[in-house]
Amino acid sequence: MLIFALMELPVNNIVDQFGRVHDYLRISLTERCNLRCVYCMPEEGIALRPKAEFMNTSEVLKMAETFVSLGVKKIRLTGGEPLVRSDAKILLEKLSKLPVELAITTNGILIDKFFDTIKTSGIKSINVSLDSLNKEKFNSITRRNDFDKVISNINLLLNNNFHVKVNAVVIKGVNEDELADFVRWTSDKNVHVRFIEFMPFDGNKWDFSKVISLETILAKVRKQFGEKVKRINDRKNDTSKNYSIEGFKGTFAIISSVTNPFCDTCNRLRLTADGKIKNCLFSDSETDLLSAMRRGEDIVPLIREAVWHKKSVRAGITSFENLEKRKNRAMIAIGG
Ligand code: SAM
Ligand code: SF4
Repeated sequence: MLIFALMELPVNNIVDQFGRVHDYLRISLTERCNLRCVYCMPEEGIALRPKAEFMNTSEVLKMAETFVSLGVKKIRLTGGEPLVRSDAKILLEKLSKLPVELAITTNGILIDKFFDTIKTSGIKSINVSLDSLNKEKFNSITRRNDFDKVISNINLLLNNNFHVKVNAVVIKGVNEDELADFVRWTSDKNVHVRFIEFMPFDGNKWDFSKVISLETILAKVRKQFGEKVKRINDRKNDTSKNYSIEGFKGTFAIISSVTNPFCDTCNRLRLTADGKIKNCLFSDSETDLLSAMRRGEDIVPLIREAVWHKKSVRAGITSFENLEKRKNRAMIAIGG
């Protein structure tokens, strides 16, 4: 039955049993990072593993090429911090030769160091994480002192006409008081702020009471900006609900993975730095592509099978109670 169904699929696409075509791959390049964000990196850190357990340069490229041959049209590099990898420059150069839209999610610290490579790699859209506009608070969330660097690198990107999305994870009692400041920040900057609901991962001390929901975020912004808040069109497969304030140069958006998941249009796949495919951010099952590739096996059937078994909604999690108890990797080891 399954084989019959697979034979009917267009050869070139990776499709699940609900007909969702998966053409967007997020590759985590590393589990290492130069920050220690409280919502991502467990306080005790994560166990360091031998380099041999992770994809090397040519393995990353071979994985990417395989996914592109299966219809992937967009690749986003993430991590950990993708730019701390010693071969990040080579990877950007080589991946940019593939017929895909290449994008990156970064904490922004190393943007200036990689600026020329980023420009020549044709990356147009960059997501930078910034959870507070207040230096002390930012440094306390990230457990490091790089606020000025991140801000100056965001400005560098904006001054060079990159499409910059700023990701801010909103956590109760931490930065919920800054929503209006972030929105005000978009008034004369062509920056796209995205408020992300705090999600549960191993070691990040999540509980539902710390989540500031889409509804609350919107209500707080509306309280400040009233009728000037305008809903703007979402693009196909957008994970965010998009808004702008009348007359402002930038926009803001809300990503509501917890209270309002957007699974029915999901086209995303995740490849971890150790070469495992995760068919959903919340899934606790993984398929080991790297070991198979090292044994010289064809990984295409493994990819197809992993995607076919993707659940219709959030890895089968239907309630917040289950969300809390769910075993998963720490976010730093998944690749957001
Ligand atoms: N180091 C890069 C960065 O910070 O942008 C890329 C990796 S990071 C894991 C990718 C994204 O995941 C970031 O925007 C981060 O804010 C988000 N993230 C991490 N942990 C999260 C959590 N518990 N809930 C929601 N978003 C989270
Ligand atoms: Fe590092 Fe990004 Fe995780 Fe922060 S969110 S610890 S910058 S990987």
